Amino acid sequence: MKILVINAGSSSIKFKLLEMPSEILHCEGMVERIGAKNALLKYSKGDKHLEATMEVLTHKVALEKITGYLLDREIGVISDTREIDAVGHRVVHGGNRYSKTTLIDREVKDQIREFSPLAPLHNPHNLEGILMTEQVFPMAKQVAVFDTAFHQTMPVKARKYAIPNVFYAHHGIQAYGFHGTSHKYVSERAMDYMKHPKAKLVTIHLGNGCSITAVSGGKSMAHSLGFAPSNGLIMGSRSGDIDHSIIFYMVEGLGYSLKEVNRILTNESGMLGLTGNGDLRDIEARAENGDAECILALEMNAYRIKKYIGAYAAVMNGLDAIVFTAGIGENSSKIRKLVCCDMEYLGIVLNNASNNSRSKDLREIQTDHSKVKVLVIPTKEELEIAKQAYQLLV
Ligand code: ADP
Repeated sequence: MKILVINAGSSSIKFKLLEMPSEILHCEGMVERIGAKNALLKYSKGDKHLEATMEVLTHKVALEKITGYLLDREIGVISDTREIDAVGHRVVHGGNRYSKTTLIDREVKDQIREFSPLAPLHNPHNLEGILMTEQVFPMAKQVAVFDTAFHQTMPVKARKYAIPNVFYAHHGIQAYGFHGTSHKYVSERAMDYMKHPKAKLVTIHLGNGCSITAVSGGKSMAHSLGFAPSNGLIMGSRSGDIDHSIIFYMVEGLGYSLKEVNRILTNESGMLGLTGNGDLRDIEARAENGDAECILALEMNAYRIKKYIGAYAAVMNGLDAIVFTAGIGENSSKIRKLVCCDMEYLGIVLNNASNNSRSKDLREIQTDHSKVKVLVIPTKEELEIAKQAYQLLV
């Protein structure tokens, strides 16, 4: 079964075409800077890589370009759009409604639209991706894989905020959780690898967005992102946890508008706010050269992760493994080392040599006498979306 996985964001569409269940990758790519005259198109098939810059003003045009690549005589992988059996869409917010991967019909589209105020930067674009692919691949089944679905198992005591009940009961204000596809994928891989289906895990997704999940027996029990993807860990440009009274002080004491405060906390904070740079590779390089701001920012980042690991070990009454994943989690030995140092009390002891290995596969990086395993597992969100779509359709 040929499954096209689409991740449509505000100004980009990423895609992968996978053969399922063999998991063979036919091709992948992305269109970035949609809406601009100099949009960037990338396409890869095996060891062939193409890059082009051109005007792409709408998501529809972007999808047409992608389809053009798929159908291309030389570098394409299909000769007719009807060869695509299904399209799996990443949808960020499924509210309380969707705890599972779902075949898309009119009602599902209405619901995705209805949840848009809860994820204004994501859901409208996810929906647009669905509407466009329905036109381009009319024969394909359309499947939604929700970022929030994996966290539907969180107990009410973990999801409810201590504000008047009416906001939970009538306005849907609660922690929903995000990055569910990634946390699900790496936790399942960890449980398989450890041959321990009841394992108590803390999965740590560190990309531009960052989040951490307590997973017990395959179920999400607690998670750092909440009502929106802004709480918890220090991210590329998002603050993560702050005392909410700071927002009132910024507005009432310092004269910022609410819109400005939102922009500051979402786009100008996190590692960017602390160092002037949102890319961890640059921050690490500057820290190596003794830059005090960068050294402190890395320490703050790791400290926040440490606090959550401790909290989640307490929540689960135990810990079998911690799992690092995504761009930073998979690649930054520095962050992993800062997180894992002085954690002997919890049973975490890092092996520096394995931590510094550049392997790209699942690996263990703890010492032999570490009670808790420390795993690095590359996340494969698109593969997980394809797997879930396949399982739904067969
Ligand atoms: P996204 O959330 O956009 O999918 P990624 O998972 O690709 O993000 O992660 C992006 C982050 O990973 C960036 O901060 C980048 O600096 C960091 N990163 C990527 N490679 C490395 C590396 N080799 N060392 C340290 N950080 C890295």
